[in-house]
Amino acid sequence: MADDPTLFERIASGDIPADLVYEDDRAIAFRDIHPVAPTHILVVPRKPIPRADAIEPEDEGLVGHLFTVARQVAADEGLTDYRLVMNCGEGAGQSVFHLHLHLLGGRDFSWPPG
Ligand code: C5P
Repeated sequence: MADDPTLFERIASGDIPADLVYEDDRAIAFRDIHPVAPTHILVVPRKPIPRADAIEPEDEGLVGHLFTVARQVAADEGLTDYRLVMNCGEGAGQSVFHLHLHLLGGRDFSWPPG
């Protein structure tokens, strides 16, 4: 039996509403419902790769595409400086097990992150 669709697959299919800012045949981007910066957008592949350590060589083009989408969305948002984050595993802060890049901008960031 096929796995249940992930939360982000349900957003991509329109089953769960989201504030979409970008979509194409391989990826979507939408505003995070709990923003931690003035701009907080998630860039998500339609393919439900669960986490960064499940990325396969065949996914290299798709993962590269996520960065191209993030660049486009950042430009559309008027951001020149921003942070891209991908949490891998619960201990690193991952809560949704469908690969996603956080695009964070609109404020200054400290390093190292908490
Ligand atoms: O990296 P992590 O897995 O924790 O990120 C998941 C993100 O998905 C969170 O920032 C959370 O606010 C966001 N989210 C969302 N819409 C939902 C459920 C979660 O934007 N319906």
